Amino acid sequence: MCGELRPSDAGSKVVLMGWVNKRRDLGNLIFLDLRDRTGITQVVVTADAGAAHDKATTVRSEFVVAVIGHVKLRDAGTVNKNIPTGEIEVVADELRLLNDCKPLPFTPADNVLANEEVRLKYRYVDLRRPEMQRNIELRHKVAIAIREYLNSQGFYEIETPFMTRSTPEGARDYLVPSRVYPGEFYALPQSPQLFKQILMISGFDRYFQIVRCFRDEDLRADRQPEFTQIDLEMSFPRPETVFAVVEGFLKAAFTTIGVALETPFPRMSYDEAIRLYGIDKPDLRLPPMTDVREAFTTAQLDTLHIDAELPVMAIVIPKVGELSRKERDEIKTMFGDRKEAKVFEDIKRLEKSFPDAVAKIRELVPTTPEDLLVVVAGAKRTETANEAKARQQAYAVYAAAGQLRLVLGQKYAERHGEFEHGNFRLLWVTDFPMFEWDEAEDRWNAAHHPFTSPHDEDMDKLESDPGAVRALAYDVVLNGTELGSGSIRIHRQDIQAKIFKALGMSPEEQQSRFGFFLEALQYGTPPHGGIALGLDRIVMILAGAESLREVIPFPKTAKAVDLMVDAPTPVSERQLKELGIAVVGKKEL
Ligand code: ASP
Repeated sequence: MCGELRPSDAGSKVVLMGWVNKRRDLGNLIFLDLRDRTGITQVVVTADAGAAHDKATTVRSEFVVAVIGHVKLRDAGTVNKNIPTGEIEVVADELRLLNDCKPLPFTPADNVLANEEVRLKYRYVDLRRPEMQRNIELRHKVAIAIREYLNSQGFYEIETPFMTRSTPEGARDYLVPSRVYPGEFYALPQSPQLFKQILMISGFDRYFQIVRCFRDEDLRADRQPEFTQIDLEMSFPRPETVFAVVEGFLKAAFTTIGVALETPFPRMSYDEAIRLYGIDKPDLRLPPMTDVREAFTTAQLDTLHIDAELPVMAIVIPKVGELSRKERDEIKTMFGDRKEAKVFEDIKRLEKSFPDAVAKIRELVPTTPEDLLVVVAGAKRTETANEAKARQQAYAVYAAAGQLRLVLGQKYAERHGEFEHGNFRLLWVTDFPMFEWDEAEDRWNAAHHPFTSPHDEDMDKLESDPGAVRALAYDVVLNGTELGSGSIRIHRQDIQAKIFKALGMSPEEQQSRFGFFLEALQYGTPPHGGIALGLDRIVMILAGAESLREVIPFPKTAKAVDLMVDAPTPVSERQLKELGIAVVGKKEL
């Protein structure tokens, strides 16, 4: 109500209830900026208002009050163009104090943001800030838009348990001890993966859920131990079927901020993404890279200590303008000391010694004089490599170039202007590798999860060349951020057994981890597939926020602590005893 009054309301009697955002006491006149979820209205309490005026002298920031009064147009000179209610004010006839408020560590009206620990400890006050109110409202609208879209496409929202057993996403589980079975534990789901697949076996051919997932991972700035996924699964799909559904609900989600996404999103294989962007989540806002190896003769490559078998990548960052010597040297620092690749940050210098090669590069990569052009090439290898190793080495050069492209893009964001809020570039990355080599464990891991189906054509390479097996797995990527991953699943038990074998999982381990699921697969499982997208991240991007904590009402810190409720905490001896648990050591953070 407070934020909704307009000049057309002038003359009407109103009752407003809310928080005192600010008070200005001019003696005979006291101004209260009254705030609720909808915004702020200026209330004027004059000395004529008697008791109301006396009370107004006692109110402070964040007191909760009710004002009975009437709406009046402001004089032209006092109109405030900065707020939607700036043309009116409410003249108070009566003022009721509904509650007072202790002096606060910060107030929602402060212009300078309190430090984040204080904000999180007093989250209820922080959430009153208009910006947080907007973020939470946006989150609500996005979730509703997605639900409505999926409902319109025949999806059922079906809940799955939080107290379950270990699921296959590969992170550490959060465990819940069982009182009834001391020494036994439930696991909180890292995702509803197996349940949603079982729902397909159960005949609910279109499932979704906006659902909390729990992963005990080492936290980075943009991770939370519990986070929300838009999780879905379909029976009888091709990847394109899943793409169309996701494009539909993302379109609906983006409409909440007035952005009309163009669909279908472009698609690119993992291999292509690596070759063009050096990363599996390409940021399409800047131009792709180009392999310019053909611009050099073998002799030139030799002189430059470049490996002729490895890619030579040209990176272009538009509109950077002439760089100073110091700025050029910084590129070297950004690139870092690398064994696998080297950087040529000064094209003009390269041009002096190799004019033909650089002319050819310019032909292959059209640029304007304002554009920054940098070349990254593979360093000469000392040993000859087999095919798998050579693939890895080439990927390392793409990756080094891709990383430099991203840091340069960030560094010169103001110059090229492509990172302004509102430039949304989405795409699908498909055909991910099925397996990832785990150096530390000396074995293959599932790159997505072990229920992902390999490509039919690659089945024969499962044993001979696991690194070359492609999966029917896909990611949806926005501006260099992965929004979600999914796959077509294995629906046959014999193929599932082969994959487990390729992963080096013994029959005993398969049984103990996923026995119930392997059994279920044998009772008439339809072909199925799905995906999960991070809701928190989507809302963060839509809100233009810097951190997930800005769009999660009650988030945890980067050290997995809830500062408001003070969790985690030790529990009483009695509770531990009941659960049959003894704490043997305390880890210092
Ligand atoms: N469960 C997967 C994940 O959380 C998504 C999927 O495969 O549907 O990454």
